[in-house]
Amino acid sequence: MTVKIALIGLGKIAQDQHLPSLARQDGYELAAIVSRNASLDNIDAFTSIEDMIKARPDITAVSLCVPPQVRFDIAKTALKAGLDVMLEKPPGSTLSEVAALQDLAEQNGCSLFATWHSRFAAAVSNAQNMLKTLDIKSVEVIWKEDVRRWHPGQDWIWQPGGLGVFDPGINALSIVTEILPEKFYLSDGILFIPKNLHTPIAADLNFKTTSGIPVAATFDFLQTGPQTWDINIETDQGMLALSNGGAKLSLAGKNLVISDALASEYDRIYTRFADLLDGKKSDVDVAPLMHVADCFMLCKHEATDAFVE
Ligand code: NAP
Repeated sequence: MTVKIALIGLGKIAQDQHLPSLARQDGYELAAIVSRNASLDNIDAFTSIEDMIKARPDITAVSLCVPPQVRFDIAKTALKAGLDVMLEKPPGSTLSEVAALQDLAEQNGCSLFATWHSRFAAAVSNAQNMLKTLDIKSVEVIWKEDVRRWHPGQDWIWQPGGLGVFDPGINALSIVTEILPEKFYLSDGILFIPKNLHTPIAADLNFKTTSGIPVAATFDFLQTGPQTWDINIETDQGMLALSNGGAKLSLAGKNLVISDALASEYDRIYTRFADLLDGKKSDVDVAPLMHVADCFMLCKHEATDAFVE
């Protein structure tokens, strides 16, 4: 059955990934968009979800591509109207918000899918399977990108709830929480916060797994030149290197998977959403957001130079 779906928020990720992916999917019809500014040829456009719900009762699902700070109210309205909801990452600006959405989904018989797009990168499931049998010695996460290149004009990233460098950093945490065979927790860290902004521009973090394996993470939003989205795992069989945001995998220097970053992640996400809808199920894992909340609770704060885009 074809799912009539509306996209809410038509910014960078909606245009770069959601629209092309939906166009490739047989199981969906893009029935409307909800946007404060944008319109698309031959697609109904509304400026609020309330207007969309009134005008298009045939739409059964929405995909939210708005910043985290405005996500809860829209998701709540959708769930109360009985719509199935897919959330871009992070699923909310607080953990308690996400718990409230889970309750609403259950009460209204809706599917709620909190997506973590990096978990759908080409090599992540291979890494997860291999780590079940390897002896892990240490984990190093290096997530460094240029905020001016990837997030132009996205002022919400620097506002409370926007997460700053954890907006990309949470993608790394979504992969590590997926592939490591045991849980890990924050032991200490430093958040570097520009003196004119509310969220970190860099972070140095030290985690440990339950059995004591060190997991170090460095996030940086000021990386020019080549961009780095790498997870290096020292094992008894050599280095397991998951690079390019989860798209490439090698063990002891031997390439095992080579794919393009972001390519096909969103096709897999929409396929997964269709499976959830079929079974009237939800998929909400807050583990990556929980780690970010821990970082904001436990890390030292260091003021750095003002940042101006
Ligand atoms: P963006 O380019 O700033 O787009 C967000 C859109 O949300 C805006 O264009 C706007 O669309 C809508 N919006 C509604 N209320 C808003 C408000 N108060 N302030 C700002 N925008 C508002 O951001 P994005 O990069 O697409 O990111 C959206 C979400 O996707 C974030 O949670 C982000 O973490 C996630 N994401 C982004 C990427 C990426 O590469 N950029 C990748 C994966 C996930 P209208 O003008 O149409 O209303």
